[in-house]
Amino acid sequence: MENAKELKEKLFRKKTNGWETLNKEEKKKAYDFSEKFMYFINSAKTERECVKSLTNILEQNGFKNIETVDNLKAGDKIYYINREKNIYAAVIGSDDLTNGLNIIGAHIDSPRLDLKPNPLYESEELALFKTHYYGGIKKYQWVNIPLSMHGVIITKDKKIEINIGENEDDPIFTIADLLPHLSSEQSKKKLNDAIAGEDLNILVGSIPYKTDEEVTEKVKLNILNLLNEKYGIVEKDFVSSEIEFVPAMKAKSLGFDKSLVAGYGQDDRVCAYTSLKALLNANNPKRTAICLLADKEEIGSMGNTGMSSRVFEYFINELLDKTVGNKPGLLDACLKSSKVLSADVTAGYNPNFSSIYEKNNESYIGHGISVIKYTGSASKGGASDANAEFVGYIRNLFEKNNIAYQNSEMGKIGVGGGGTIAYILADRGAEVLDCGIPVLSMHSPYEITSKFDIYNAYKAYEFFYKGE
Ligand code: MN
Ligand code: MN
Repeated sequence: MENAKELKEKLFRKKTNGWETLNKEEKKKAYDFSEKFMYFINSAKTERECVKSLTNILEQNGFKNIETVDNLKAGDKIYYINREKNIYAAVIGSDDLTNGLNIIGAHIDSPRLDLKPNPLYESEELALFKTHYYGGIKKYQWVNIPLSMHGVIITKDKKIEINIGENEDDPIFTIADLLPHLSSEQSKKKLNDAIAGEDLNILVGSIPYKTDEEVTEKVKLNILNLLNEKYGIVEKDFVSSEIEFVPAMKAKSLGFDKSLVAGYGQDDRVCAYTSLKALLNANNPKRTAICLLADKEEIGSMGNTGMSSRVFEYFINELLDKTVGNKPGLLDACLKSSKVLSADVTAGYNPNFSSIYEKNNESYIGHGISVIKYTGSASKGGASDANAEFVGYIRNLFEKNNIAYQNSEMGKIGVGGGGTIAYILADRGAEVLDCGIPVLSMHSPYEITSKFDIYNAYKAYEFFYKGE
């Protein structure tokens, strides 16, 4: 009979804290990588800003806009930008594209407050903006925090880019909540109703326009005048704008040991950044490696910049055209044989809310990348359930390359659920597996990840592109 301790060692799955597996040098690499990641999320707080910032990184690393290239061969590096809001980057492999691609898909839109088409109004000599929140937020978390204003305004004859609230000497904006002294009614409401959608009105000014004339709404007039002087816009121009208000706080290291990253928009820019950085290391891969960064995931992936649009297929058709020469049926063959990691964050176990979780099947902060066979909610509703064979392939790839991974669901059955872009590429026949970084306080203005998980995901994605 075998020794029970040895037998247990052999048979049980061990739960390992990733930090305990790193030497000093590796720990430094994880910290240095996360430092650059924090710089990235501080400078890219909208999907448009992400595209811009990531395009710079791609170009610095020899990637060319596919529209400037007629023919592609193994080793070539290209990218395609869709309407400033989503981007695909590829390194052409030595294998025929028809045999399939290695794709990692993440999203670069994050929950936020968008302006309504007619946003500006005055109430009791204060000027405010009406907003419509974007994505699933807990509304009470978005009041009384510093907000910055980002986006574009299209006027009759020009396009104006706005970014106010990120620089030290910029003003910020905020939504003023009710003081506790007068909150006896509000406090009785359900958490979700305490701040209603129509309460998310952003304070933007308080000085009336200076005049001796009898005019109403002088504070609104003054704000419009300031905007007109600075940008040349009038009130109507808001109808053709996309203005997003996001948390103005900077990402920071969290904890005495500085082991965590706190910052806005890590869902899903942490997977976007790591998967794109990993692609930079995919030199001469066998299969063509693609990093796909989608917009609109937080509101259902609709629209022509979301994953449901066929612009990604257009991009693959371009790749086929410029390599093997396209013909009917090749796109389907290519997608059907493709391997995809849907790189999106998942819920990390939060000790403040332990009753929500089923501890055997959760993602733990600092325990590596989360492999999620199926998402959805109770009864696996809406899930893209990955095939065991593909999970086996990924698991073996990670084990061979010392990647820390964990396998999880998100919370107990029936407490909620979620899903991401996995099902969309699975619909087109590809093997798809959700595989991302665990996050605390997801969709809040200040999300939390582990530097170990960030660096480990970057390595995991690199091996996936290489396919060995
Ligand atoms: Mn996400
Ligand atoms: Mn999300």
